[in-house]
Amino acid sequence: MSIVVAVPKETAPLERRVALVPESVTRLRKASVEVRVESGAGSAAFFPDSAYAGAGAQVVPEGSSVLEGAQVVLKVAPPAPAEAARLPRGSILVSFMNPSRNLDSVRALARAQVSTFALELLPRITRAQGMDALSSQATVAGYRATLLGAEHCPKFFPMLTTAAGTIRPSRVLVLGAGVAGLMAIATAKRLGAMVEAYDVRRAAGEQVRSLGAKFLELSINAEGQGGYARELTPEEKAQEQKMVSEAVAQADVIITTANVPGRKAPRLVSKEMVASLRPGAVIVDLAAESGGNCELTRAGETVTVNGVTILGPLNLPSQLPTHASQMYSKNLESFLALLVTKEGTLVTQFSDEILAASLLTQGGEVRHGPTRELLGGAP
Ligand code: NAD
Repeated sequence: MSIVVAVPKETAPLERRVALVPESVTRLRKASVEVRVESGAGSAAFFPDSAYAGAGAQVVPEGSSVLEGAQVVLKVAPPAPAEAARLPRGSILVSFMNPSRNLDSVRALARAQVSTFALELLPRITRAQGMDALSSQATVAGYRATLLGAEHCPKFFPMLTTAAGTIRPSRVLVLGAGVAGLMAIATAKRLGAMVEAYDVRRAAGEQVRSLGAKFLELSINAEGQGGYARELTPEEKAQEQKMVSEAVAQADVIITTANVPGRKAPRLVSKEMVASLRPGAVIVDLAAESGGNCELTRAGETVTVNGVTILGPLNLPSQLPTHASQMYSKNLESFLALLVTKEGTLVTQFSDEILAASLLTQGGEVRHGPTRELLGGAP
C-alpha cells in the first residue's frame, strides 16, 4: 500500500505559495507515493488543477476533506489552531511552523497526536542543504527586496551615459549579509548599483566581496552557534551604530536583513539615522516581521518620513509564488526522502539527526525544548 500525502490549499492571508508543485508530484508518484491535492491549492502560484491531475495527483474538490486518510500533510504556512485540530490523528505534518508565534497551533497539533516537523528547526548541516526551506525562501525574499527598493527609488540603479547627461549609479547598502542579504546584493549589482554591505559575522565579508560589493569592516566578529550571529555586547553595539550611521547617510536604498535566531531583530537604523537620509531614500526592512531593523518600520505597511520611504513587507516569498513554490517543493521532496523507507513505508523512528532536530510535536508531546518552555512545560 502506498503512502498518502495531502496538500491542502493554504489559508493564511497573503499566502500564494503551494507546498508541492506538479513536477514534484510526478517524481513522488514514481516512488509510489499517492498525492492528494485540494482543488485550487496551486492556482495562486499559477499551477492549475489540470497540471496536478496530469502529474498523477488526485485533485480533491475544495472544501471536502483532502486530509481524510492522509498519512503525511504538506503545508507552507503554519496551520491555524482549528486547521491543526482537523489533521488526521497520528499523521505527519511538514511545514513552516514559527513555533514561538503559533503556540495555540503547536498545542492543537500535540493534542491531535500529530508528528510535526518544523522546517525552521532544520539543522544547517551540509546533508540538510537540499531541504533548507529557510534558505530557499530567503533567496526569494532577498531578490524581491531589491526589486521593491528599485521600484520605490526615484533614481536609476545603473550608471548611464546619455545625450541627456551622465547619471551616477545609485548607492545600495545591505545590512545583514546572510542568505537573503547576499541575494539582495547580487540583484542590486546586476541592476548596476554601487553596493556596500555589512554583517557582524566576519566570514560574510568574503562572500560579499565575491559578489563585487564593498564590505564594511568592523573589529567585531559575532559568529555564534551553527553559523548564526550572536547578540552584540553594548560596546559592540555602539561601534556598530557609528559605522552604520555613516554608511546610511550616503545610501539611496537600504535593505536590512539582520536577524538573530529566537530574538527580536537587532535595531540598526534609528530614527535619527532616518532623519540623516536624503529625501527620496528608501529602506526595505526584511526583519519587519521580527520587530524591524529600523526603528520606524511598521510591519506590513509603507511609511514616509521626511521624504524617506520605509517598507516593512510581510511574506516576500509569496510575491514570487511560482519559483518560491518550486524551490519549497523541492525542499519538501528531499525531506520526504528521510521519512520513506526503501520498502516504500513510513519510518517509525525519527532517529535521523535531521528528523530528530526538526521534530516539534510527537505522541501528544511538544518535543522542542524552547517551545515546550514557552508553553509552560506541558502541551
Ligand atoms: P539570519 O536570517 O538568521 O540573519 C541574517 C543575517 O543577519 C546573518 O548573516 C547575521 O549574521 C546578520 N546579523 C545579525 N545581527 C546583525 C547585526 N547586529 N548587524 C549586522 N548583521 C547582523 O541568517 P541566515 O541568512 O539564515 O544565515 C545565517 C548563517 O547560516 C550564515 O552563516 C549562512 O551562511 C549559514 N547557512 C548555512 C547553511 C548550511 O550550511 N546548510 C544554510 C543556510 C545558511
